Formats: sequence, structure tokens, C-alpha cells
Amino acid sequence: MNIVLLGSPGIGKGTAATKLSKKLGIAHISTGDMLRENVAQKTKLGVEAKSYMDKGLLVPDILVIEMMKKRLQKKYCKNGFILDGFPRTINQAEEIGKEIKIDKVVNIQASDEIIIDRLSKRKVCCKCGFVYHLIYIKPKKEGVCDKCGGKLYQRKDDKLEAITERLKVYRNETEPLIDYYKEKGILADVDGSGTPEEEFESVLKAVS
Ligand code: AMP
Repeated sequence: MNIVLLGSPGIGKGTAATKLSKKLGIAHISTGDMLRENVAQKTKLGVEAKSYMDKGLLVPDILVIEMMKKRLQKKYCKNGFILDGFPRTINQAEEIGKEIKIDKVVNIQASDEIIIDRLSKRKVCCKCGFVYHLIYIKPKKEGVCDKCGGKLYQRKDDKLEAITERLKVYRNETEPLIDYYKEKGILADVDGSGTPEEEFESVLKAVS
């Protein structure tokens, strides 16, 4: 099964996708994680992407589509996958639609107030990338990852100025995808205003 998780930054797509990937035994593909790896390794793509990411802007389609097409050719994607953070524009959806069939799109929704609160309380492990929330998914020891002992940090684009820009970009560039997939008859709306557990149960129900 090929699934897309749609929803604004901070809605919890990554957390839900990680659990869903384990439950269904299919690949979890996060373009945000892939781009951050490229930034960390200072690849050509990473160097180009960084300035957009730090400002909360979208990395140009041409770079992201190319990266995604390469990833989808990997063997571990053959049994199905969950796309987290892709597509983010109609152009990305059309380009990827030429290569693969999307079976289900889950649109997770919550108010901007909830999103801003979540993003500003989000911390990420610098080693393994596990995502914490200072209220819902608290590390046992402050500032330290439970899983690998790595240091927790706040993403540059989770600072308030970048959050505002990312929400604006989401409304303008990504939200049109809701109607795009609705017209294809494969969209399911899910409430993302509850706890991560409630959100996961709703996502699971939507794809079952
Ligand atoms: P995320 O971790 O999904 O919030 O992504 C972090 C940042 O990576 C975004 O704010 C964009 O700058 C960039 N990014 C991730 N996915 C895409 C995409 N599909 N298209 C363009 N830029 C992306």
C-alpha cells in the first residue's frame, strides 16, 4: 500500500508515520529527514537546500522530485511506503503520480494555535532523529534522548519566525493538494488535535 500523510508542519506526520511503518511493515520516507541528512553531510543538494529550509521555505521542486524518484527506486520501497512531507506542491504530486500509484492520502488537521504550540515545544535528537514533545513525548532526562543518549535540540525552523513562514507556505502551496486528492477519491480527513496516540489510531483506521 502506498500512503501519503498530508497536514501542516508540526501536525505529527513524522510520529504517526514511524508507528504506521512498523505496524504495516512498509517504508517510511520523510523528505525533511532526507534533506536534513544532506545538509548534515554538506552534499551539493544539502548546501543548496539549507538556505530555503532555515527560512521555512520549500526547497525547489526540481531538487526534491529528483531526490524522491531516486529513493522510490530502492528495493525496500517495493512493498509499499508512507510519504511524510511529500508531495508539498501540485507539481510534485503530478510528477510523482507519473511514476507510482498512491492508494490513500490521510489529511491530518488541527488549528494553527495547536500547531504553533506543538512546534515550539518540539525537540529532536541530534544523533538518532527521534522527535520529542515537551508535554506529550517527554524525555526521561531533560535534554537527553531516551533511545541513544544523544543531545536534544530545537530545529532552526521550529523557531517562531520560521513557524509563521512555514504555515503561510503550507496554506499557499500544500493545502491545494487536499482538493487535488479529494477529486481523485482517495482522501480521508483525520482529527489531529488530540494526543499522538489518538492521532495514530485515527490514521490507522483511515488506511485500514
Ligand atoms: P519537514 O521536516 O517535513 O517539516 O521539512 C523540513 C523542511 O524541508 C521544509 O520546511 C522544507 O524546507 C523542506 N522540505 C521537506 N519536504 C519538502 C518537499 N516535499 N518540498 C519542498 N521542500 C521540502
